[in-house]
Amino acid sequence: MAALILDGKPLAEQIQAEIQGRVAQLVEATGKKPKLAAVLVGEDPASQVYVRNKEKACAKVGIASQLVRLPESTTQEEMMKTIHQLNVDDTVSGILVQLPLPGHLDATPVLDAIDPLKDVDCFHPVNVGMLSQGRPRFLPCTPHGVVQILHRSGIEIAGKHVVILGRSEIVGKPLAMMLVQKESTTCGKSAANATVTLCHSRTQNLADLTREADIVVAAIGQAKFLTADMVKPGAVIIDVGINRTDEGLVGDVDYQGLVDVASAITPVPGGVGRLTVTMLLENTLQAAKLQAG
Ligand code: NDP
Repeated sequence: MAALILDGKPLAEQIQAEIQGRVAQLVEATGKKPKLAAVLVGEDPASQVYVRNKEKACAKVGIASQLVRLPESTTQEEMMKTIHQLNVDDTVSGILVQLPLPGHLDATPVLDAIDPLKDVDCFHPVNVGMLSQGRPRFLPCTPHGVVQILHRSGIEIAGKHVVILGRSEIVGKPLAMMLVQKESTTCGKSAANATVTLCHSRTQNLADLTREADIVVAAIGQAKFLTADMVKPGAVIIDVGINRTDEGLVGDVDYQGLVDVASAITPVPGGVGRLTVTMLLENTLQAAKLQAG
């Protein structure tokens, strides 16, 4: 049986329409437009595309955006000063530092310096701590996108075994934290209460674990890593990976091999990526609300 294709585009449009309505309500109540400030250092082409997409998405839902472009030669001190200026700027609701930063810059102190109330990527230790305690201020964008795809596609998470490939601070680890909670703050109990296995490059017998999974989330950055022999028939496959190859953009999942084995699968491109930017808009709105009191 062919899998249900979990198309990110209509889901992203649906959520964006909801955000647009809530942005309008906030503007009416406070007279102030939420604003996302993005800091882009250097000329990395992929980062420039990502920042442009974020600006376009903001415009679509009525969120203002500000791009702070800094040269490749920017020093750590200048970065810290930029963050401080954005922290104290009342017109800025959310701050995003486009990663990766050039090699001479240390991202950790920069991200730690962002006002936790403006931390729309949910990287600040205070916000990560609150997330792990099940009382999140913000939900990290890509994991939240994964949860929204599952929830809005009617895929039950509660009680299921979810195997996550990849333990990064951006995707795998916070997703695991979100899925094991008793209740999802945005999607209720059905989008939480999973049994989670979090895998990484040192995991032994990985395929034995993925074959046990009701839901596999692949977020490792290895093109077409997850193959049909590694999953049980009828499993749900969420592909977070984005890999630039000679064939173009491909995920961490062998889509062609899995589309007849899985019960549902996200495509790449057009799956999780669409939701990531959308959930950033959600966080910018949330930040504006928090600052409005
Ligand atoms: P990282 O490189 O930060 O982390 C990769 C993780 O995968 C690590 O935990 C690593 O293990 C693990 N890993 C690597 N190889 C294997 C393997 N063979 N078996 C098991 N585990 C492995 O990646 P990110 O989390 O930042 O990104 C992962 C992918 O998701 C990338 O393709 C990225 O482009 C994409 N991405 C997509 C987004 C979207 O919006 N769709 C957003 C963010 C990322 P270890 O910790 O042991 O090194």
